[in-house]
Amino acid sequence: MNFKDITGQEEVKNTLTQALKQNHLAHALLIRSDDGGAGLSVAIAFANFMLCPNRSETDACGECDTCSKTKKLIHPDFHFVLPYKSLSEKDDDQGKAEMMSQWRSLISENIYPTLRNWASHAEIETKQISISVKESRRILYNVSLKPFEAEKKIIFIWLPELLGIEAANALLKVLEEPNQRTQFLLVAHDYEKILPTILSRTQLVSVRRFTETEISNALIKDFGTEPEKAEQIARLAEGNMNAAKDLVHGMPDNNLALFQNWFRLCYGQKMVDLVFLSEEFQNMGKEPQKNLLQFGLSMLRESLIWNYGNADQIRLTVEEKSFMANFSKVIQANKVDKISHWINESYYQIERNVNPKMVFLDLSIQISKIIKA
Ligand SMILES: [Zn+2]
Repeated sequence: MNFKDITGQEEVKNTLTQALKQNHLAHALLIRSDDGGAGLSVAIAFANFMLCPNRSETDACGECDTCSKTKKLIHPDFHFVLPYKSLSEKDDDQGKAEMMSQWRSLISENIYPTLRNWASHAEIETKQISISVKESRRILYNVSLKPFEAEKKIIFIWLPELLGIEAANALLKVLEEPNQRTQFLLVAHDYEKILPTILSRTQLVSVRRFTETEISNALIKDFGTEPEKAEQIARLAEGNMNAAKDLVHGMPDNNLALFQNWFRLCYGQKMVDLVFLSEEFQNMGKEPQKNLLQFGLSMLRESLIWNYGNADQIRLTVEEKSFMANFSKVIQANKVDKISHWINESYYQIERNVNPKMVFLDLSIQISKIIKA
């Protein structure tokens, strides 16, 4: 992976490449972002940058033999330590090989995976996932080796917060005795759960969320999403590219039309029509149902800004604005709170597989009551 494969995030790319150039790089970096954020891919691209002998000022060449190996995550000096299921002594080597092949296939599909994505890809229960003591001992062994091809080898630890105490102590040992031939890259989400003794031996690099513009540009470029829809999704994704990509696949093109029609029926208390509409929602499937509810929440939030905020802060498409002009007159602030509460409730019920027709019908009745109150 190259830096250019990651949309935006210029500040952190710059910080890292400059630190390397000026020899200011600590022997262990802790790169931190949200779950599903850009931290993981930034770290992989930086490893590629460090290993590439033909790199430019700003990126790996992407074409040399080294780049072709790092791209496939098979470079012999690029070691991965990952949370995984616990393996018996006997399955250890085979298990590690299996883990790496699952990891390679995950990253080739998704460069912003969440822990949950990894667990489901590798078919592990999330609660059984951890970095084992054996993995930590393997770090000790790898550190003792000379690099095979590069000047330095890279030990890449994804989610050090999932190290058990014993495993963390093994890691601590190597972090305490840095050697010139090893670069540690730790990539974390739950930064607070990492042992302070480990934190104190690393240099922190924070990777921010994506901006809405970065997300909508990436969606237009990678998926050919229509600009208006890309903007809508970027707003819902709240800086998370992974969530945005899920929304591309799960979001009906006509969320606004659906929502508009639904609210019109609630406003008119058209109960018979609402029963039919709930059936229609039921047939959409779970992800689109959740997305419609999320869309509703974002419309309610925007209506507050519309009524009380600064017009510059309005983040709506042209079509949405024309809807909002009427919507915001009907839905005053006290109603926004109440309706948002019921939409949130419904969202959790849908997640828990409660019958969607009943959920949407109940919700419609609540909304009708609140609007008319
Ligand atoms: Zn290269």
